[in-house]
Amino acid sequence: MTEEKRYMRLSGLEPLIITPESNFINVGERTNVAGSRKFLRLIKEEEFDEALSIARHQVEGGAQIIDINMDDGLIDGKQAMVRFLNLIASEPDICRVPIMIDSSKWDIIEAGLQVVQGKCVVNSISLKEGEEKFIWEATQIKRYGAAVIVMAFDEVGQADNYERRIEIAERSYDVLVNKVGFPPEDIIFDLNIFPVATGMEEHRRNAIDFIDATKWVRENLPHVSVSGGVSNVSFSFRGNNIVREAMHSVFLYHAIQAGMNIGIVNPTMLEVYDDIPKDLLEYVEDVILDRREDATERLLEFAETVKGVKKQDNAKALEWRKLSLQERITHSLVKGIDTFIIEDAEEARLSVAKPLHVIEGHLMTGMNVVGDLFGVGKMFLPQVVKSARVMKKAVAYLNPFIEEEKGEEQQVLGKILMATVKGDVHDIGKNIVSVVLGCNNYQIVDLGVMVPPEKIIETAKKENVDAIGLSGLITPSLDEMVYLAKEMERQNFDVPLLIGGATTSKAHTAVKIDTQYKNAVVHVNDASRAVTIVGDLLNEDTRTEYISNLKKDYGIFREKFLKRGKTKSYISIDEARKRKYKIDWESAEITKPNQLGIHVIENTDLKQLLDYIDWSPFFRSWDLHGKFPDILTDDIVGEQASELYKDAQELLTKIVNEKLLKSKAVYGLFKANTVNEDDIEVYDDEGNITATFVTLRQQLKKKEGVSNLALSDFIAPKETSKEDYIGCFCVSTGFGTEALALQYEQENDDYNSIMIKALADRLAEAYAEYLHKEVRTTHWGYASEENLSNEELIKENYKGIRPAPGYPACPDHLEKNTIWDLLGVEEKIGVRLTESLAMWPAASVSGYYFGNPEAKYFGLGKITEDQLVDYSKRRNITKEEAEKWLNPNLAD
Ligand code: SAH
Repeated sequence: MTEEKRYMRLSGLEPLIITPESNFINVGERTNVAGSRKFLRLIKEEEFDEALSIARHQVEGGAQIIDINMDDGLIDGKQAMVRFLNLIASEPDICRVPIMIDSSKWDIIEAGLQVVQGKCVVNSISLKEGEEKFIWEATQIKRYGAAVIVMAFDEVGQADNYERRIEIAERSYDVLVNKVGFPPEDIIFDLNIFPVATGMEEHRRNAIDFIDATKWVRENLPHVSVSGGVSNVSFSFRGNNIVREAMHSVFLYHAIQAGMNIGIVNPTMLEVYDDIPKDLLEYVEDVILDRREDATERLLEFAETVKGVKKQDNAKALEWRKLSLQERITHSLVKGIDTFIIEDAEEARLSVAKPLHVIEGHLMTGMNVVGDLFGVGKMFLPQVVKSARVMKKAVAYLNPFIEEEKGEEQQVLGKILMATVKGDVHDIGKNIVSVVLGCNNYQIVDLGVMVPPEKIIETAKKENVDAIGLSGLITPSLDEMVYLAKEMERQNFDVPLLIGGATTSKAHTAVKIDTQYKNAVVHVNDASRAVTIVGDLLNEDTRTEYISNLKKDYGIFREKFLKRGKTKSYISIDEARKRKYKIDWESAEITKPNQLGIHVIENTDLKQLLDYIDWSPFFRSWDLHGKFPDILTDDIVGEQASELYKDAQELLTKIVNEKLLKSKAVYGLFKANTVNEDDIEVYDDEGNITATFVTLRQQLKKKEGVSNLALSDFIAPKETSKEDYIGCFCVSTGFGTEALALQYEQENDDYNSIMIKALADRLAEAYAEYLHKEVRTTHWGYASEENLSNEELIKENYKGIRPAPGYPACPDHLEKNTIWDLLGVEEKIGVRLTESLAMWPAASVSGYYFGNPEAKYFGLGKITEDQLVDYSKRRNITKEEAEKWLNPNLAD
């Protein structure tokens, strides 16, 4: 055979000769149990007829070789390989093409070689387990007369860069040709196609190194072919076929030029190179050829814009790119698309005299449209936060240019300090308000969470801010806010004070804070109103009048509120105790917990929690109100809710798959009895008291026959001599939240920074739900027969309750100290309590378990002076301290 004619000649019924002029040979991959779930199922169920039809489909679809793989733990691979090959042999429309026998097990390969007809390819051998084995296998393959795929793998490992690919290929070639006498034209190198755009620095060169190594191999190792599994390259874009198809085509375009002549490709997953939209092509090429530092980021962003877009619509989806510059910028801002904003900002920058004019002109024009749409209720907070993300990107890009031109400073409407007060940890709402104000041209000084009052005061002075916004979730934070108002008054502050957060109310603001401070104090009850309120407060022309009206309004509201409180009647605490909820303890059946004592659970797979998520509160945290899942199809907010939900699901999948958040839990089940009506004593095995829970009792005067409840009513009193039980717990899924949120913030991505916190909160609640179920059915086991759907679980249609300190039945946060001491929460799982008894990490939930079937949630309502005095004695604290924790006058 002359040199020029050393071509690889394969055959099924028909020959396949691979010459330098041959087109790229594509290998069908669907008859592979590792790659096709359907094929795996068919083989497992011995549906060989249908399995054959997959092979036929491949050939009809243009596959020039078919790869057959039966490597699966649940299949007898050898037998399946032989049987399938034999069946193929009698199907002329399949077996006209050559077969690729694919296995990592030599005996399967050999079994295949023994029955296959024609000249096949063995996939694969390598130096992985040393030269000896390699030589032996190659010798066998040569004897069977097959061609072979050689993986770029040696004793050290898989080749993952350019040099290693060459090193292994060269050595393998040398061994095969010179030691085994293997015909070089029958060698196909698989040089390892690995994913790109994974976000990992070390993966950046995966594609280009493959391409360069291919070129080297084809130039330096005569007669060989080069192959690879193409779909690997786009692995990180699973689910986004538009991008994947483009990546495959671009990769092949370059790899084929470099000399790759065979490949495992799914022909339906290939876009025609020339049909790839220009911009997508550029982004993909940047990634494949590693042409830019930020190539991955840009492609990821772009991918967002084409996700879910049907292929045919792709061109249409990008039609807006043909609009004028201002229209494009506005479109990007309104739609929250950040893919093109930098190039558009650059174009704008080149069109104006000063870079600052882009912010004040183009970008503000766009943001005003956002503001208008928001104002008329056509846009909602999640979208505005997305718009802000686009704005921030553009500003970050322009800033260096602006700094170059000294003396310029952006005209802002005002500077606003934002902080979550000392001892409090939640900031989702505060962050949303900050972002929304920020994109309305206010400068935000955000001090974060748990901010001591001195720091707020000092920063406000130093930064000369125009307003201060305080946020708080739990009742003790209200006292912090009152303290700050007093302090601001004392230090002659003259800027408005904004109050927001779950625990705050117009009543508290009017009654407790407004009276402490002469300038305006405003309760901002939802984030959407912040912009208008701040606008009115800071507008030079109207603010004096606005503030004076505000003060009047709060005064009137205060008077009414305080009067209204006097219309209801209350009974004394002694009277209320007599009217406690009475359970017939004689006949009550009490189940003894299966596992008394304290138990710690670490690293529960977050995946297990997904079904327990209650989504409605998630939407509420973004100011979208409605019940899930109806909210997704709501006439008004449906579209936005759906988009938010989709984004949430994506991030959640990432969190779960990449285990970005860690969960921990501790719970305890103990013997317990009620004493003195309202206290619950907790005992160890010997009957020693290990803790006392202090409960509070309703005092509202009720109709005859209706009880005044306390949680202690649901535990057997000591005098009944019945052994009863109580549990308590703390769960957290917040380990890792802060770091992730910070990372997003640093990338100017407030949207995801807020999202991650909202999702961590959801997971914590889901964990509480999940653990409660485990306790009911197993650990305590009083409801071992329970069988409720997830919806029923979310509605809490079960026996027993898990009231949480700080919530209506037990508004007393001090109880958390007792739970923490009893369970050793901080030592065991690292969740700690701040000075206001907020839990940190924020995504944590704690509470008690009551197992009695009659136990139910209730609201405590107002407590009167006598219970406050009684309570402070039981706790051994002053009455003033007691007031701080309970804020008794604001209830009802
Ligand atoms: N599924 C919701 C539940 C959170 S709020 C979510 O994911 O956000 C409801 C929780 O607060 C209950 O599970 C319970 O632990 C507590 N709770 C509800 N009502 C209560 C009440 N009246 N007193 C004390 N705790 C209560």
